[in-house]
Amino acid sequence: MPPERPGIYVHANIKDAHMDTSQVLKRCTSSPGMMDEQKVAKCIAILEKEYGVPKQNEVDPVDLLIMTILSQNTSDTNSLRAFAILKSAFCNYEEILAAPVEAVADAIRAGGLAEIKARRIKEALSRMKQDAGAITLFFLEDMEKDEAMTYLLSMPGVGPKTASVVLLFAFGMPFLPVDTHVYRVSRRLGLLAEDVRLEKAQPILERIVPADKYHSLHLNLITHGRLICRARGPKHVECALHSCCDYYLQGQKP
Ligand code: SF4
Repeated sequence: MPPERPGIYVHANIKDAHMDTSQVLKRCTSSPGMMDEQKVAKCIAILEKEYGVPKQNEVDPVDLLIMTILSQNTSDTNSLRAFAILKSAFCNYEEILAAPVEAVADAIRAGGLAEIKARRIKEALSRMKQDAGAITLFFLEDMEKDEAMTYLLSMPGVGPKTASVVLLFAFGMPFLPVDTHVYRVSRRLGLLAEDVRLEKAQPILERIVPADKYHSLHLNLITHGRLICRARGPKHVECALHSCCDYYLQGQKP
């Protein structure tokens, strides 16, 4: 996935952080019990104010699929490095398809699980070639969203998150991929109930978020999760969302 990386976040207005909880609760129109849609709208607006509205750049869907496969179980830095080496080691995807698994694995070693990912990449390329007569995914553009999702899910090693990333970013289809950051921040905010498992989160968020905000919310929650609402030691005091965050308002500790 090639999400844009909005600039480093510095939230200067921290005066709310020094209000006591009752003040915040009184002022906050998005406390627990508020309608999900209103709360979502407020969160989206705050995040867009903080990080901007991410642009939807054109991206080749095959590149995106391969990048997303490479990003599984590793950091962005490692997966992007693996992708860059892969693209420089081979002239095109036809060459990768024709190459032995070991050669592809050697090229993507920086991304971890090299043999598994090399096999998945070659299987995905082979499927496209077989189905479309060329290594392309542009034929998905003519499909209904659910049909396109079913097609991608039929590829080995492609799960709902990977498929949703490809369909959202390459085709602008209405999917809201849920990664670990989107999941963690959404649960803390109260957009998802505590007991909702990650695999069940996407359809719930898709019901309460306007479709034209899937892209923005997905990227901004990732940015917020990386910079502020980190898994360990979330920076509540610097957080622009704390006035509508269940986790914060309920006085839970990091
Ligand atoms: S207030 Fe804290 S828990 Fe809530 S979104 Fe901000 S950093 Fe995360």
